[in-house]
Amino acid sequence: MRQVGEFRGELFAPTDEGYDEARTVFNELRQGRPAVVARCAGIADVRLALEMAREQNLDVSVRGGGHSVAGWSTNDDGLVVDLSRMGWVHVDAETSTAWIGGGTVATDLVTEASQYGLAAVTGTNPGPGVTGLVMGVGEGYLTPRHGFGGDNVLAFEVVTADGSLLNVSADEHPDLFWAMRGAGANFGVVTAVKLRLYPMPEQCTGGMIEFSPDDEVEVTRCVWKIMEKGSEFFFPFYGFGPSDDPERPRIMFSVGHTGTPELAERELAELRACARPIADEARTMSYWELVHQEHLQDHCRTAWDVYRLAFDGPSAQQMQLLLDQRKTVIPNTSILLWRTVPKPLAPPSVCPRLPGISLFPSGWWEHEQDDKAILAWLEATSACFSRSEVVTDAANTVNHVVTLDDDRAKRLYGAENYARLRRLKAKYDPDNVFRSNNNIRPDDERA
Ligand SMILES: Cc1cc2nc3c(=O)[nH]c(=O)nc-3n(C[C@H](O)[C@H](O)[C@H](O)COP(=O)(O)OP(=O)(O)OC[C@H]3O[C@@H](n4cnc5c(N)ncnc54)[C@H](O)[C@@H]3O)c2cc1C
Repeated sequence: MRQVGEFRGELFAPTDEGYDEARTVFNELRQGRPAVVARCAGIADVRLALEMAREQNLDVSVRGGGHSVAGWSTNDDGLVVDLSRMGWVHVDAETSTAWIGGGTVATDLVTEASQYGLAAVTGTNPGPGVTGLVMGVGEGYLTPRHGFGGDNVLAFEVVTADGSLLNVSADEHPDLFWAMRGAGANFGVVTAVKLRLYPMPEQCTGGMIEFSPDDEVEVTRCVWKIMEKGSEFFFPFYGFGPSDDPERPRIMFSVGHTGTPELAERELAELRACARPIADEARTMSYWELVHQEHLQDHCRTAWDVYRLAFDGPSAQQMQLLLDQRKTVIPNTSILLWRTVPKPLAPPSVCPRLPGISLFPSGWWEHEQDDKAILAWLEATSACFSRSEVVTDAANTVNHVVTLDDDRAKRLYGAENYARLRRLKAKYDPDNVFRSNNNIRPDDERA
């Protein structure tokens, strides 16, 4: 049934008090100036906002947690369906599941689920929206054991482009359920998601271990082997960051272990045997603390891209590439590596399932005056990775992809899956209303 009535949330136009706060997204580099920010109080508001956009011919962006690095949850002169008021968590401890609102951010879910001794697969940072994360595959500390965020969705409640409210699960609209766990933002406004939960790890180990640049070759090779071997409890990041000496970047290892402290110690012993650390801050902490270690400020300027390296040794070529590129890092940039090994979970979805090591050049900075140098570094580094024979741009986490053309989409999803996605897009959103995302263009031949 279609509900009509007054908009119960808040509407912000550029001249309204509160507009600047309402339009702000995480990435300062991508702030837009929408004509309207529609902060919705519920499903009825979402429908009214979509109707308003249609009537006034406004482009639509949907904002969950506002952490899209590409800036897809805002626009210039369009309408933003802002779900920040729709952040809620209802845990069902008996079935180890939770329904969450479409605007729920990771810290809310981690905190509420922990009250029942439970945890969901979220990212490693408390800020991003959970719906945005799971629809773009999503990975974090629990992924090695429990799969991607997208693998742990049991149902979506979604308002589609024509205003229909659909329950989407393995039993209802299974075609959409397949598509939304990997390309979800294309198909509508998700007002709620049902997620599978797991026992919360009782104790975790987090913190940073740093090695001397003198040991970079041995450590890189050794860390690679540790990642290639893998562990159900270990989701570490390894990377090269800037130091005062451009020839000698920092060699850092961020520990993210969700097993018992004894197991963590055993697995970290292998790492510590790679070379003697020059700083070792790894320590036991709660799961909540692990997820909140990497708390960034509410806004910053950021840009990144993501690639994938095959498990291959590392080969001499892979080593050469990493060691050459690590010397290019400048202040506020880094090159990070982490292991991604998908779990085969039923029912199947369009989540990319491409085992390998994710390769992540990124910049995080504060001041506009640094934009030019950092963006030029990212462009040069990305160009180098794109040219390399040992790198592919078919990343696992669609979440980290900021430009998705046809070719990349085929590499990411597979050509057949991509064609199927385009047919589903034509069926559910033929006019491409939801295009402010990693966009799947509708197939001309309607499904
Ligand atoms: C600091 C930081 C840390 C991160 N850490 C991780 C990590 O550890 N693991 C990981 O996998 N990813 C991580 N990411 C990537 C992040 O998961 C994606 O950028 C994700 O899309 C952010 O979701 P959001 O809701 O916060 O963003 P938004 O900007 O609100 O949305 C992102 C996209 O999803 C769409 N969307 C969001 N919510 C809805 C909804 N309810 N209905 C319909 N469409 C919606 C938007 O339209 C947009 O296209 C991180 C990003 C940042 C900036």
